[in-house]
Amino acid sequence: MVRRQDIVEFLDDLLDINDVSDHSVNGLQVQGCEEVRKVGLAVDAALSVYERAIAEGCQMLVVHHGLIWGGLQRITDRNHAHVSRLIHSGLNLYAAHLPLDMSPDVGNNALLCQMAGLVGIEPFGAYHGAKIGWKGALEVPCGISQFEDVWREQLGATPRTLPFGPELIRTVAIVSGGGTGALKEAIDEGIDCFVSGEGPHEKYHEALEGGIHLMYLGHYLTETVGVKAVGRSLIAEFPELSTVFIDEPTGF
Ligand SMILES: [Zn+2]
Repeated sequence: MVRRQDIVEFLDDLLDINDVSDHSVNGLQVQGCEEVRKVGLAVDAALSVYERAIAEGCQMLVVHHGLIWGGLQRITDRNHAHVSRLIHSGLNLYAAHLPLDMSPDVGNNALLCQMAGLVGIEPFGAYHGAKIGWKGALEVPCGISQFEDVWREQLGATPRTLPFGPELIRTVAIVSGGGTGALKEAIDEGIDCFVSGEGPHEKYHEALEGGIHLMYLGHYLTETVGVKAVGRSLIAEFPELSTVFIDEPTGF
């Protein structure tokens, strides 16, 4: 058993939870029971995810997309269903949105850079006054299909690529999830391939005219790596805890 408060303090510190302005209310969002034996890790706060966490014997759930965005709203309808299920089951809900995109240690984007084998990585992708992604270079430049294979092997992704960049990819920038807001920055910096999760229709011509490869790996999939890494950090800090990754793909 580990005190909930000890886990919350550890996570707040690991993720520099209050360092960035974010629409998400990051940190402990809904308080549950005080003692924790098992922590569930998931991308989304959803009723089906709570049920699986409860069935797995979790007392805490750590997610990337939490329940509370922009502050407390009416606890009615869907919000009521979520909050009442969490409170009645004693399941603590902890959310980390931008802090879990940008963390150099357990962040989605730094880990995706590692998977791609990028070197010389630096912060990239300005959002709400902070850089939430990372960029770097491939040690050995490669073509687009070879780079897609990296993601098939490392992430189990099925990349969807708008192949408008150079024949050989040297520089890569990554912003997980719906990160194509940073596409212009990638074009301006002369990046060869911009990797994100998913993007809107109009990005096609922006990428074409910018002469850049735009590669989508899936919003959900690109945001599974951070919560899994948080689980490994929790076990290293609190060996008496156990964790479980609750996989609920959304198809996006
Ligand atoms: Zn997301």
